[in-house]
Amino acid sequence: MIVCDLHIHTCYSHGKDTPADMYAAALERGLALVGFSEHSPRPHGFDYTREYREHLTRHLPDYEREVLALKAAPREGVNGICNVLYGMEMDWLDGQEEFTRAACKARDFDYLLGSVHFIGHWGFDDGAGSWEGLSQEECEAHYTAYFAAWETMARSGLFSTAAHPDLVKIFSVGQFHVWLDKPQSRTILRRALLVLKEAGMSMEISSAGLRKPCAEIYPAPQIMTMAAELELPVSFASDAHRGEDVAGDFLRLAAYARSFGFSRHVFFEKGRMRKLDF
Ligand SMILES: [Zn+2]
Ligand SMILES: [Zn+2]
Repeated sequence: MIVCDLHIHTCYSHGKDTPADMYAAALERGLALVGFSEHSPRPHGFDYTREYREHLTRHLPDYEREVLALKAAPREGVNGICNVLYGMEMDWLDGQEEFTRAACKARDFDYLLGSVHFIGHWGFDDGAGSWEGLSQEECEAHYTAYFAAWETMARSGLFSTAAHPDLVKIFSVGQFHVWLDKPQSRTILRRALLVLKEAGMSMEISSAGLRKPCAEIYPAPQIMTMAAELELPVSFASDAHRGEDVAGDFLRLAAYARSFGFSRHVFFEKGRMRKLDF
């Protein structure tokens, strides 16, 4: 059983529920550990259609205070005490390494998720519209650019875990699988996964994709196979933005990971990797 969800958002970005609500959901699901990983405000020029930068910036102190209060006084859930980790989901953005580095060092986090949501200045997961009508070739150029950014993110040494590894498939899963089956794509991915391993990071296995148009776990089976070959540490996550999604589809995630030979997962406490069986 997976008793640890390391990717949780709140009402302080574009989520629905407060940290206390999300924690209550974790207690109900019987989790032993919940990691809060609110978004970090992005610089101007990296914008979503429904931008929440100002709301998030204004409430960052509330996020920190409320999560640290939960962490300081963990409560009993249906399976015993549920501990709390204080983290953040950081964007990896072209040309913004200094900005990101400063944000990572600004607070005393237990762990940091590294995420690529932007290719250049394009928030590619913002909606299906900008993917409509793209040719296979155009999609493949985006996949290559995405994994180049992903590899640079891992090389930065700033992060604990690479979140939703193949998020780029969100609106074009058919084309993504065509690309994934090509030998040159495997080479790109194997190299990126190796960088992750050398950086001491874990790869997230996320149920969020099941709730998105791609209707697949992040990452795809081919990437899971490569990660298993490299004995890459993995972490489990729901990427919940509301209480009902906390620990979402975790039975399915466990069966999926086990089918590739994984039996342990990891979390990070003040940057130190800890292992758990599932
Ligand atoms: Zn994300
Ligand atoms: Zn997230």
